[in-house]
Amino acid sequence: VVTVEHLSKSYGDLRVLSDLSFSVHQGEVLAIIGPSGSGKSTLLRAITHLETATSGTIAIAGTPIVKDGVYADAATLRGALLKLGLVFQDFNLFPHFSVLRNVTEAQVRVLGRKKAEARDRALSLLDKMGLAGKADAYPCELSGGQKQRVSIARALALDPQVLLFDEPTSALDPELTGEILKVIRALAAEKMTMVVVTHEMHFARDVADRAMLIDGGVVVEEGPARELIDNPRNERTRAFLRRFS
Ligand code: ATP
Ligand code: MG
Repeated sequence: VVTVEHLSKSYGDLRVLSDLSFSVHQGEVLAIIGPSGSGKSTLLRAITHLETATSGTIAIAGTPIVKDGVYADAATLRGALLKLGLVFQDFNLFPHFSVLRNVTEAQVRVLGRKKAEARDRALSLLDKMGLAGKADAYPCELSGGQKQRVSIARALALDPQVLLFDEPTSALDPELTGEILKVIRALAAEKMTMVVVTHEMHFARDVADRAMLIDGGVVVEEGPARELIDNPRNERTRAFLRRFS
């Protein structure tokens, strides 16, 4: 569903991503792991066009948003990017909107859904996220785990083909981390296609189908998640994973 070929990204002289190639297939969960500063967030931001690629190709559901460094026109970009949902580490909810409005707003504005339809969809997703009673609450009245579940509901409300998570639990206490990982696990069981940047190695090993280690902006190793984490072949992967054991 997402294909990345020879992607590079520089900020001035700083090369943050260097000739990355990989793909994410329908129904699979890809975990992206790697040290701080290795380029994981930049990669997700390039895929979602929050950053522009310096060179390379990124295709979403068969449509290149950028091909050999040249971006598609605005309408093509917009259509392709609608297929992606992004969940950030720090939730990014609208603080002055209720929970319900956080989940309905883009449905109405971006997809042009009728208000009643958007509301039904939002309430059913909030219910699924265990937040049925919180529709009228404001983000400041919620725990971090609840906020993150609202932001997952908000992403799902736009019916993305792929959900991308950038360290969805790193702003949370350990007990709240578990509740978010449970939600992602449940989505995986429903065969939602997901890319998850995470430092939770147990989670990556158990939930992801494939894992990819990025270090210094290059793909160091990629393979079945369990195999890569239990039996890394590359010395840099081994050195990275040693910190978690
Ligand atoms: P972490 O695990 O800490 O979140 P990361 O793997 O997500 O790290 P990135 O945020 O992608 O790392 O950053 C990769 C590199 O790019 C870092 O060296 C960072 O300083 C640099 N970088 C990121 N954003 C910018 C920017 N807007 N301008 C200049 N350099 C940047
Ligand atoms: Mg990051």
